[in-house]
Amino acid sequence: MADAAPQIPTVWTIKALLLWTTDFLAKKGIENPKTDAQILLAHVLNCKKVDLLVNFDQQPSEADRTRFKELIHRRVAGWPVAYLVGYRDFYLLTFEVSPAVLVPRPETETLVADALAFLKSRTAPAVLDLGTGSGCIGISIAHQKKDSHVTAVDISPDALAVAKRNAAKHGVADRMTFLQGDLFAPLPSGSTFDLIASNPPYIAANEFAALASDVRDHEPRVALDGGADGLIFYRRIAAAVGPFLKPGGKLLLEIGATQDADVRALLAEHAELEVGPTLKDDAKLTRVVTAKKK
Ligand code: GLN
Repeated sequence: MADAAPQIPTVWTIKALLLWTTDFLAKKGIENPKTDAQILLAHVLNCKKVDLLVNFDQQPSEADRTRFKELIHRRVAGWPVAYLVGYRDFYLLTFEVSPAVLVPRPETETLVADALAFLKSRTAPAVLDLGTGSGCIGISIAHQKKDSHVTAVDISPDALAVAKRNAAKHGVADRMTFLQGDLFAPLPSGSTFDLIASNPPYIAANEFAALASDVRDHEPRVALDGGADGLIFYRRIAAAVGPFLKPGGKLLLEIGATQDADVRALLAEHAELEVGPTLKDDAKLTRVVTAKKK
């Protein structure tokens, strides 16, 4: 009697798990399958991504593999990987995130880098982060510019709670003020800033359908919805920002890739503002509109 076909024992090493999962996620249309597989497995094994690569031959326990599998299923069902693990790296720090906040994006690092370059020569600058979300912009600035004071505003109390924890985690809470409210509304009257930065909601009503489902169905609508034409917050900020900027103070607004001309035109309507160069992100898309108070 012929032997049964040899069964190849499947040994689930870290390497095998990553290869299989990367392939699986790619087939399911996930955008960054390799990175996602690494982040999720590192989370399950409670180690850093780099530790996976140096321990390629280790075999995670069955319990860990089961947890990993559950996360993979939720990722395929559309959950952003940052919500599954509860954090996201941004600029130089790791930020806690939850579905109450937009996941920090690499594009926004362009804004932070320019803010820090502007603040470098200023002593004890006052900074305002409008719509702080996870706090990634304001906290990165406070962390790098040690004599700055950063005021962070958000309309969502749940987002502010996340931002406050991030500020504490990164040791900058004593140089930050957190205010709940709508744009400039919660600021004490007469407050002025060297720099005002914002990544406001900027998705237009007709763009929602085309958004990736992990963004559209899982990230907070309040952090994405920029009204009918996507420009409502730029209009409001342009109209109100003047008195809150010191003379020579800078405004940095993240924009969607097609909004440059519109946002520049909105700012140019206000005589006290001088519109500066628009910055491009790493993908060479127009991403940050700049202006200064005359
Ligand atoms: N960058 C986000 C996206 O395209 C939108 C962020 C925002 O509206 N500020 O998904």
